[in-house]
Amino acid sequence: MTTSTGLHHVTAMAGHARRNLDFYTQTLGLRFVKKTVNFDDPGTYHFYFGDAVGTPGTIITFFPWGDAAPGRVGAGETQETAFAVPVGSLDGWEMRLADLGVEAGAIVTRFGERVLPFADPDGMRLSLVETAWAAGVPAWDGGPLADDAAIRGFASVTLGLANPAATATVLTEVFGWRHAGTEAGRQRFVAPGDGTHPGHVVDLVTVGGGRGRLGAGSVHHIAFRAASDADQAAMAAALGRLGVPATEQKDRNYFRSIYFREPGGVLFEIATDDPGFAVDESVETLGTRLMLPEQYETARARIEAVLPDLGAAS
Ligand code: ZN
Repeated sequence: MTTSTGLHHVTAMAGHARRNLDFYTQTLGLRFVKKTVNFDDPGTYHFYFGDAVGTPGTIITFFPWGDAAPGRVGAGETQETAFAVPVGSLDGWEMRLADLGVEAGAIVTRFGERVLPFADPDGMRLSLVETAWAAGVPAWDGGPLADDAAIRGFASVTLGLANPAATATVLTEVFGWRHAGTEAGRQRFVAPGDGTHPGHVVDLVTVGGGRGRLGAGSVHHIAFRAASDADQAAMAAALGRLGVPATEQKDRNYFRSIYFREPGGVLFEIATDDPGFAVDESVETLGTRLMLPEQYETARARIEAVLPDLGAAS
């Protein structure tokens, strides 16, 4: 069976662009991997943050809309996006977030791991999770955090669903993941492999209260990895057998993607690992210049004029 080895990226909606950029690079210490535009709406930025090269499983991306109304989390949506940090770093993180005025909850334990829930400036629900594998994954060395605390990509995402069963079937039958246990109503699914790489966990929880409202702080979609176009096509075929339609493949410059709404209502994407973010600028200079796909290059001046001013780095 063709399988997905993990999450590829998480894409969310944000409010103020500069505030979003500062939070993910300065507060959380991720690398600004790519500054581009929404390929379907080139008057809007698309920011990518991740590790040194934007390895699949480390990439969180945002569409910042300065005047976006706040979202409200509901069923059929990502409830929380969790980043992995080394064991022993969470107390330091708790102090760091408090010092920086970031709203955080109390540290809890899930599946034997310590979890610190907090929110970004748009109210997006995030957490930091001490995972045993994090210390074995290289950290980007250009950020403000030391190696013993820096984020190592995603620990997991948590999806809230009115009825998780059909979503679970997509994870197991299309992606080849397995149910790894249930704790306090949280069903954990893990990707094939030894569980030592970023983004190999998805949790499903049952939520009531109907659909939420997408807005600033909402996750727009989550993407799963495909090792090749052939693997992506095989997963699309498996979806077809479940009666779930997917889009045609779209070229996103840094990966090639198909999209589908899984039966629980969450927008899923399957994105190829290749070619990655060094396809149009060097690894050394990632994120420093506005990169546009070929079809928008002739309109660069017009696009730059309508994009929000990011001002000077604070
Ligand atoms: Zn995406």
